[in-house]
Amino acid sequence: MNADSRRTSAEVVVVGAGLSGLRAAQVVADAGRDVVVLEARDRVGGRLLNATLGGGVTADVGGQWVGSDHSRVQRLADELGIGIFPQFGAGRNLLDVGGKRRRYRGTIPRLGPGVLWDIFIARRRIDRMARSVGAEQPWAAERAAELDGETLAEWCERSIRSPLARELIGLAGRTVWGTGPEELSMLHVLFYVASAGSFDKLIDTEGGAQQDRLDGGAQLLPLGLAAALGDRVQLDAPVRRIEQRGNGVRIAAGGIELEAGRVIVALPPAIAARIEFDPALPERRRLLGDRLRPGALTKCMALYEQPFWRADGLSGESVTDIGPVTLTFDSSPRDGSAGVMLGFVGGPEARQLTALPPGERRAAVLACFERLFGPAAAQPLDYAEQAWAEEEWSGGGPTSNFGPGGWTECGPALREPVDRIHWAGTETATVWSGYMEGALQAGERAAADVLAA
Ligand SMILES: Cc1cc2nc3c(=O)[nH]c(=O)nc-3n(C[C@H](O)[C@H](O)[C@H](O)COP(=O)(O)OP(=O)(O)OC[C@H]3O[C@@H](n4cnc5c(N)ncnc54)[C@H](O)[C@@H]3O)c2cc1C
Repeated sequence: MNADSRRTSAEVVVVGAGLSGLRAAQVVADAGRDVVVLEARDRVGGRLLNATLGGGVTADVGGQWVGSDHSRVQRLADELGIGIFPQFGAGRNLLDVGGKRRRYRGTIPRLGPGVLWDIFIARRRIDRMARSVGAEQPWAAERAAELDGETLAEWCERSIRSPLARELIGLAGRTVWGTGPEELSMLHVLFYVASAGSFDKLIDTEGGAQQDRLDGGAQLLPLGLAAALGDRVQLDAPVRRIEQRGNGVRIAAGGIELEAGRVIVALPPAIAARIEFDPALPERRRLLGDRLRPGALTKCMALYEQPFWRADGLSGESVTDIGPVTLTFDSSPRDGSAGVMLGFVGGPEARQLTALPPGERRAAVLACFERLFGPAAAQPLDYAEQAWAEEEWSGGGPTSNFGPGGWTECGPALREPVDRIHWAGTETATVWSGYMEGALQAGERAAADVLAA
């Protein structure tokens, strides 16, 4: 929409054209209400972004996988005519830790019985504790203060004997949360596991969060929603100020001023905290912007003529402590017409990697791919990186996390409306928080609240 046709009022304004904000807007529009979406960037999709490798191969440099029970995402893909296909998983996975390489099938590597037992018990305990914490009100759980006073690293240290088992849980966490285990509140981990259903669901490919991919890339979901909303979506409109007066809200975004009955803010809380609110938000809500910190996750993708690792009997999936990459996946197109190797760098390593010049970053990542998959990995046709912690309008990814004390201090403010201001975004979800599924659930919940108000 160009500047001349910009609106000056709407019944509902949604801030942020990520999946959550767009879903909220769709629900409001479908109820026959007048809605406008204001988006800071010159594109929709937020943490979902398609890039092109080698001039023709689509690569998801943001969110990518559809989990086995991500029913909202599956339905939306179906409605938009976007195909879903399984993550490539044939062949053996690699585990390269402590200078030793092992090939294995499925989620569990072949390790010593003591290590396997420790991992099995830890996962069972985490699931049991997650069930008692739940995803609705973690701050009100029976042992909330105690669990919130401890980090995942401290819990692992106390509860898991084998150092290798502890390291593997830490490595998985770097990609799941984009944060090291020493920065994560245990209560947050349990909330997150509860919202997904189990620890295994977070880390599994088949039957878990990494089961399927979207034909043409995950950004097609927000692009499809935005196309249906048409000129109700305004790009290049960064909201700077939200003022509540009498029975309305005034929203200022660049040169745009909009009056609305209600507003849905669908942003990561740390990014929402940069907006000036008048009157000021309650203290607990203000603290939330500081305590719920975006993780740091960088996706590194190398394009090859073919997925050559498949011929070696490898799936492309690996867990490694070589660094900077800790996890890899085969991210090739559905038909295997080209090879795309995806490497994740998460947590403190993501911040360190970003500090290096581009040539050194690429060399460090490709050296890791080469060690895992052989010399052919050192010569990609193209290479791309997306460092989400560097993105002004995202602040990081894949989601935001509480460190110790955060949930009990300001958790109740996460979804609680402040008069006419409602909150969406995947961070506010109670089902698959942090994921596309959570973004959709949160958007639907915020829209239902606004329609009911
Ligand atoms: C590297 C990475 C990998 C991931 N992998 C997966 C995966 O495999 N599967 C999965 O399900 N999920 C994955 N995720 C998570 C998934 O991408 C997110 O859960 C989801 O996209 C969040 O949507 P959202 O609408 O809540 O937030 P966002 O996508 O962050 O949307 C917020 C929007 O608000 C805009 N904005 C910010 N500030 C303002 C402002 N002041 N005014 C106006 N607009 C503003 C932003 O530009 C953005 O468009 C991943 C994320 C990352 C980063």
